[in-house]
Amino acid sequence: MTTFVTLKLRCPDCSGKFYADSLASFGFANVDEHLCKKYWGYNPMVIFYAMCPHCNLVDFPSNFEMIDDDIEEDLPYSEETCDKYDILIEEVKNGDNSSLNLAHLYHQSACCRKIEGLDYVEYLKKAHYYFKLVKEEGIEEFLRTPIEDWIEATKI
Ligand SMILES: [Zn+2]
Repeated sequence: MTTFVTLKLRCPDCSGKFYADSLASFGFANVDEHLCKKYWGYNPMVIFYAMCPHCNLVDFPSNFEMIDDDIEEDLPYSEETCDKYDILIEEVKNGDNSSLNLAHLYHQSACCRKIEGLDYVEYLKKAHYYFKLVKEEGIEEFLRTPIEDWIEATKI
């Protein structure tokens, strides 16, 4: 079951303050034909990362500064959206451009969108493309699953 706590965070980039839900627990029963996890309860994929509402920096909540006071403030919330994955994808493309990171993020984005009832086909196709590149680079396994299985699961 997905449970979370609300944190007050400060962004390391813009110093803006905001609230973000951070996962306390979550679980899943099994995976579907696309190797997307079937979570129990609320979709935790929209909470894995926090997004600064002031400058759109996306990172794990633990990489923001936690403000540990009990003062209630009128602050914006980190949006709970699958679009966070798009921001991370752009960062990888502008950074080391790692095929494995891109394959993983496109796959996560596809699964997040599938859970939310959004169109995910284009994301799955991109994941498929990058998992094939990963295989060409000689990587055989990711998250204890053969790359061959990732390629098959993202075929659509
Ligand atoms: Zn910020």
